[in-house]
Parts: sequence; structure tokens; C-alpha cells
Amino acid sequence: MKQLSQIYVNGEFVTPHGTKTLDLLSPVTNEKVAQVTLGDAIDTQNAIVAAMEAFKTFSQTSKEERIGYLEKMHQILKRRRQELIDVMIDEFGCPLYFTTLLIDAATDDFKNVAQLLKDFDLEPKLGHSKVRLQGVGVVGVIIPWNSSNGFIATKVSAAIAAGCTCVIKPSEFSAQQTRLMMECFHEAGLPKGVVNFVNGTGDVVGAEMTRNPGISKITFTGSTHVGKIIAKGATDTLKRVTLELGGKSPNIILGDADFATAIPQAIFAAYINSGQACVAATRLLVPEERLAEVNELAKATIANTVRVGNPKEADTTIGPMVNQKQFDRVQDYIRIGMEEGATLLTGGTGRPAGLEAGNFVKATIFTNVRNSMRIAQEEIFGPVLSIIPYKDEADAIAIANDSPYGLAAYVTAGDKVRAYRVANQLDAGRVCINGEFHDPLVPFGGFKQSGYGREFGIYGLQAYLEPKAIIG
Ligand code: NAD
Repeated sequence: MKQLSQIYVNGEFVTPHGTKTLDLLSPVTNEKVAQVTLGDAIDTQNAIVAAMEAFKTFSQTSKEERIGYLEKMHQILKRRRQELIDVMIDEFGCPLYFTTLLIDAATDDFKNVAQLLKDFDLEPKLGHSKVRLQGVGVVGVIIPWNSSNGFIATKVSAAIAAGCTCVIKPSEFSAQQTRLMMECFHEAGLPKGVVNFVNGTGDVVGAEMTRNPGISKITFTGSTHVGKIIAKGATDTLKRVTLELGGKSPNIILGDADFATAIPQAIFAAYINSGQACVAATRLLVPEERLAEVNELAKATIANTVRVGNPKEADTTIGPMVNQKQFDRVQDYIRIGMEEGATLLTGGTGRPAGLEAGNFVKATIFTNVRNSMRIAQEEIFGPVLSIIPYKDEADAIAIANDSPYGLAAYVTAGDKVRAYRVANQLDAGRVCINGEFHDPLVPFGGFKQSGYGREFGIYGLQAYLEPKAIIG
């Protein structure tokens, strides 16, 4: 059994002051595979002090120096690609096909930000003065378990580009992935204290980061519930806050779309990352007169191309839920859907046959769902799709926007002009048309209770910079 008994502070692997431990179980077998020692408030304070000290000099480094570190990280992650993939599958249970996409995107984050920085003017002239865009200070990075090293790559690459230093608190359930990322940063040879990692729980390490005056900005990815706690806590010291929170993304299939392509695509968009994705397209909006046809296509997709199974196998599309708690949460929602009167098209409660040992959930689709039902309003974070019929285009837009969330939305149409017209009316930080999914340089973030602030590209970099006007 692996022992994860070190954190990374001031350029060194150290034994934490905190002594509590947490057992980490395999999501495939529920066997104990590792134990992580949890840091405490003192460990967090030590990391913050190291980052504050490092900021004094790192904030003054040249663009070229930061680009050098970013390119080095890109090279290291490329070299350790297989290890990064393996540990994510083993620890989190992400299917191989999707893990590969996530790790490659994470690796490219460093290259993309380095390129962006080359062309980015950190001292633009305005009026008769100079504006110096300087790093905001020490950044607290608090993230969930569903793409741990991906979030670290996105956030820390932008922070380094801006000249900021970081204290990273990953989910305590990602400690094996975190260990590998610590080693990568260590190898990159960043100055001591620029990047620090503290394993620990949210109520201890996360809470200390939120209240500690040494941290100038928190970049948080996680649930809307915890995002609100952090936003409130950060007010006392007026920290800058970026919140990437939950979602309940609508996927509108317009009547002129090719349903034979669009419906299988929609099911994959709902089940990405085994449904444990903030951008999962979990509300499928279809014309009411085509509902029977959609139901048939959905059933055929589940039977022919969706496979719940061992995440290491190349044809697995849905792996296990990260832990028993997440499994129970998804089971509860499936029960709620049935109690609310939605029609269960496929799946349901319980584990699929032959997969009884792990946290596996059946690929589940409810149809004839009303948007007011809890399964359509609340984030489930598992492979549960709701098919919701609409009357006409205006009704589809109204249903799509009738949500507390606004992270992503999807539109499929034969006529692209029509797709854009609908996209323009959706309350979401990102609208993907006709099966497109990601563009690493465009902003990512939420409307409404999906959060505030943006990541990626220029918008993402600006979130780590504080403009200072130097006049005269
Ligand atoms: P979570 O909100 O429970 O935890 C996220 C992180 O916050 C963890 O590191 C946790 O330890 C920490 N935390 C918990 N309580 C805290 C507190 N009081 N103070 C400070 N930190 C605290 O989320 P989770 O269950 O780990 O992940 C699932 C959630 O993440 C889903 O809601 C999902 O939508 C969201 N998510 C959002 C995005 C996005 O980019 N918008 C991406 C992925 C996941």
C-alpha cells in the first residue's frame, strides 16, 4: 500500500505537521490502495509564507524566464504522459479514452500559455502613461477530484505566466495524482516557494487559505455550495476570487438536425468523464413530436456503443464513480427521478451485472422529464441523462435558461445560422455547436450560479494580473 506522507513546501518534500490520515480506495474494487497524511492549518501557513517570500522576486522575473519554466513543464509532462494517465485511471477511475484527452490538454496548457505570453504586452501604453500588469500575489488553488492535474495545469500555468506564486490544495481523494504533479514541478526547477502543495481537507486547509491574509486570490473549481462558502470567507481580506462551479447544461437538438448523428453524440456529451463533469450535457432538449424517435435512438446507443466497465479498457465509455459517497449520491437521484414520475428509459438503481465490487452505476436515461423536476434542476454528477421535450424554438430556449446554472450549453442544427441565433439567446459561458467541444484559447467560466471569472487564453491570464497605472 502506498504511503503519501509528504507535502511540498518551499521547494522541498516535507512531512506535514498534521498527522491525520485518510485511506484511499480503488474505485474499481474498493480495496485500500493508499493512505494520505493530511496537512493542517500550520502546514498551510508555512506554504503561504513560502509563497509570499517567493513572490517578492518571482513577480519581478522577465517574461522570458517564465516562458522558460512553462516550456520546461510542458516537456516534463509530455515525458511523464503515461504515468499521468495511469495514475488518473487508477485513482479516479476515468476511462482511458477520456483520461488521454484530459492529460494531453493539461500538458498543452503550459505550451499554450507560454505562446500567449510571448505575444502579450505586460506594459501597455494608455493616454500618456504606462499600465503595468503585475501578478496579483499569492494564489490559492482549490480544486476537486474530477480532473485534478488538469485543473492544476490550467490554473498554475496562468499564475506562473503572470508572475504569481501558488499554494495548491487538491482534493484529498487525488493524493496519488498530486504526488506525481509535485514531482513534475520539482523537476522543473522553479525557484523555491513558487509552487507549494498541501494535501488536506477543505474545512481545514481550504478554510485557512480562504481566511489567510497572505493569499491575494483564490481560484476555485468545485461545487456551487463550497464556492459560496469561499466567496463569503474571502470577503474579509478582499481576495480576488475566480469560481468555476457546477452545471446542468442543456443540449438543444433542433428539428432540422440529423438525429441519427446528434442523439448518439448527445449521449456521449452527457456521459463524458463518466458523467462526473461540470460541463456534462445532462439535459437533452428535443422537439416533442420527435420524442418517440429520440427514445429509440437513445436506447440503441446505450445498447450498441455505451459500455460501463473497467476504465483501463479502451472501449469503456463509463468508469466507476470516484467513491462510495458519489455512488450513493447518484443512486439517490435515480430514485428521486422515479419518484418524481419521469419515465426510466434505460439503466436504474444498482450496479451493472459483473461490476458489483466497484462504484459502477448503470448508464441511466430518463425521458419525458419536466424541467421543474429535481433531476433536471440539480447537478447529479454521474451518468444520468434527462430527455426533456419542447414545443418550439422559443420554448427550447426558455427551458434551457430555466436553471440556476449557466456553465455550458450545446446546440445541434442543420442550419448553422439557426444554431447561432439560438446560441445567442442562451445564458451560458460557453455554447458548443454541432458536436464541437473545446477550444483551449477561448474563455471558460459560468453565468449565474456556475460561478464568475474566466479561465484559459487571454481572459484566463488577465484574472491573475493587477493593472497598475504609472503616470508621468
Ligand atoms: P467540492 O466543492 O466538494 O470540493 C472542491 C474542493 O473544495 C476540494 O478540494 C475540497 O476539499 C474543497 N473544500 C471543501 N470545503 C471547503 C471549505 N469549506 N473551504 C475551502 N475549501 C473547501 O467539489 P467536489 O465534490 O470535489 O467536486 C465536484 C464539484 O465540482 C461539482 O459540483 C462540479 O460541478 C464541480 N466542478 C466544476 C468545474 C468547473 O470548471 N466549473 C469543473 C469540475 C468540477
